[in-house]
Amino acid sequence: MGHQQLEELAGAYAFDALDAADREAFEQHLASCAQCWQLVADTRLVAAAMPHTVTSVEPPAALRKRIMMAVSPARTAFPAGWLALAAALMAAIAGTAAWTQYRQAATAQVSAAQSQSQVESLQAQLSALQGQADTARQAIDILAADDLARIELKGQPASPASTGRAYWSGTRGLLFSAVNLPALPAGRVYQLWYVTAAAPVSAALVTPDAAGRFTLITEAPAGVTPTAFAMTIEPAGGLPAPSGAFYLLGSF
Ligand SMILES: [Zn+2]
Repeated sequence: MGHQQLEELAGAYAFDALDAADREAFEQHLASCAQCWQLVADTRLVAAAMPHTVTSVEPPAALRKRIMMAVSPARTAFPAGWLALAAALMAAIAGTAAWTQYRQAATAQVSAAQSQSQVESLQAQLSALQGQADTARQAIDILAADDLARIELKGQPASPASTGRAYWSGTRGLLFSAVNLPALPAGRVYQLWYVTAAAPVSAALVTPDAAGRFTLITEAPAGVTPTAFAMTIEPAGGLPAPSGAFYLLGSF
């Protein structure tokens, strides 16, 4: 298998959508290829911001086929890293198609539902799915932006094992993910900052999961041109300017 073919497996691998033979071949290759590791990591990062229904509603074989068919025509137009992103985006779109089918089925159920509580429960499910679809669309907007930049954030002395990654578009917004963050003390929150030539601007307040991870998507604030991203721990509710030690830092 040529390297380009292997790279094309990265997206499907990240979604656990390869058949046994392809998976074995790809894992053997992964052991010695940093580039493909990066592709898998990128795809998983993007996938973390995507609807969870993406991988559960599609049969793996069909999903894989769809990813491959969708990505192949773009093969010559994109640098390698974009293949993984494109695969993630196509999976999101596949998820959206499945979501449309589900919505139609659920809408039919709503009109046939006997009781008010059944209607309410189905409507709550629909609105949760709508939220997931909106998130996927927002991520696609950011990742497809002409002015997209990728910034790696390194753990600082306060937490050397932490890492973060920002996909930033001044026109579309920010997709940000971090891992290995220390647990927060009580009454504290992580605060993400746009570092600008003038003053830092708060980007988001976040509480990581139990494993020290989070992924967020947020709109680009008007008139903010970051030169770097930074993360600190601040009192709950956040502060207008950072007061604590940096946990993550990365510049353009
Ligand atoms: Zn490789």
